[in-house]
Amino acid sequence: MRRPPRTAALALMAGLALLATNCSPSPSATVATTVSEASGSAAEGPPNIVIITADDLGYGDLASYGHPNIRTPHLDRMAREGQRWTSFYAQAPVCSPSRAALLTGRVHLRSGMFGRRTAVFFPDSLTGLPATEVTLAEALRDQGYATGIVGKWHLGHLPEYLPTRHGFDSWFGIPYSNDMDWHLPEGMANRTAYFAPEMDYWHVPIMRNEEEVERPADQSTLTDRYAQEAVTFIESHQDQPFFLYLPHTMPHMPLFRSEPFEGHSTAGTYGDVIEEVDSAVGRVLETLERLELAANTLVVFTSDNGPWTSFETHGGSAGPLRHGKGTTFEGGMRVPAIFWWPGTIEPGVIQDIGSAMDLFTTSITLAGGVVPADRPIDGVDISPVLFGTGMTPRDSMAYYRMGELFAFRQGPYKVHFVTEGRYGLPPARTEHDPPLLFDLRVDPGERYDISTEQPTTVAALVEAAARYEANMTIAEPLFDLRGG
Ligand code: MG
Repeated sequence: MRRPPRTAALALMAGLALLATNCSPSPSATVATTVSEASGSAAEGPPNIVIITADDLGYGDLASYGHPNIRTPHLDRMAREGQRWTSFYAQAPVCSPSRAALLTGRVHLRSGMFGRRTAVFFPDSLTGLPATEVTLAEALRDQGYATGIVGKWHLGHLPEYLPTRHGFDSWFGIPYSNDMDWHLPEGMANRTAYFAPEMDYWHVPIMRNEEEVERPADQSTLTDRYAQEAVTFIESHQDQPFFLYLPHTMPHMPLFRSEPFEGHSTAGTYGDVIEEVDSAVGRVLETLERLELAANTLVVFTSDNGPWTSFETHGGSAGPLRHGKGTTFEGGMRVPAIFWWPGTIEPGVIQDIGSAMDLFTTSITLAGGVVPADRPIDGVDISPVLFGTGMTPRDSMAYYRMGELFAFRQGPYKVHFVTEGRYGLPPARTEHDPPLLFDLRVDPGERYDISTEQPTTVAALVEAAARYEANMTIAEPLFDLRGG
């Protein structure tokens, strides 16, 4: 069922776009026209927002990003009909800080979502995302949205930190990573378990709202059940604006897929898993179209960090980028990002720098809201790029690891102050003074250090990074607080 026109909301949206982007009046007027015409009628009210993430999916793992034999027809279609971004970044190279930044629009240091010794939340963590943070779910609920999360949370498993305490009306999914709470047979090595996983090696619970409903989770059916839950959520809220956050558990190791997807791909178990995630995306798109909601729904697909390359043939690929998950090389944080909103998004391939934090600010702006004014917000409004009316105001990216600034990008250039591999992979930790310099236009794989040829560029980036750090507020690191 289509919603009645709400021209007032459209006018408000256009006005906010003007405020948020600080553009001259004419581009914003263009935005309003684009939205109105694209909807096929006058505005249908604020758009629904659907943010789908994969876990540890690499830059090179989708067909539309160049994978030669993993088939992702639904994501390819989103890319073809919408925008495919090639310089979009998760805000951190591992799960918990990345998710915190996406949901708060803030660098994870500001919310204490990091550790000096611990990289993410664990089942013995004593804390979670602080109640003082304003999540995207809370902000959109304030705008009248129904809010639901289907998938992995990983921002604190204790009751006071659950999604239902952070603005989500409902939750179906797991509280932390699918390789936590180990229960291995005596003598079995962790790596053996990862490569030949069984359901009861990890006693990860499935939660519905605040109740544990299954433990250990039958992970082989997780992707399928997430898709069904997402469809049900959309069907249940088709008559009001909704925000659906769908953070898939896969393809985080250990890999599981449902029976119909065993041997589905020619790219091994990893390929099967990605093809099932793609199928789940297709079910969301099909539901939106069946309910005639697609013209008023922004769907975003991205990943929380790069591929876990230490698992070799069982892990993903960063494509042309260097290294993967856990590192501040491009492969650790630059991820696929596809935006779909048929009739409204100007289709294309976008090279602008984007951040998962921008999803926060952009979504709230599209909903007719304003981002919290009582704290620094690092996300920017990228709707002018989506609508084809302007460029993003973002021109830099900071790369933190364990609370330390390892690298900094401004425009096409990136300096590394510290480089270090992860999960036993080289290179060993090395501090660089002067920092390494890469030109990501001609060297996205970060192979050719040009710092000696371009000392003035190095100096400019060092100064920009220093300015950035001077403006960063750093809260107490909460990941290190763990129980016995
Ligand atoms: Mg991850």
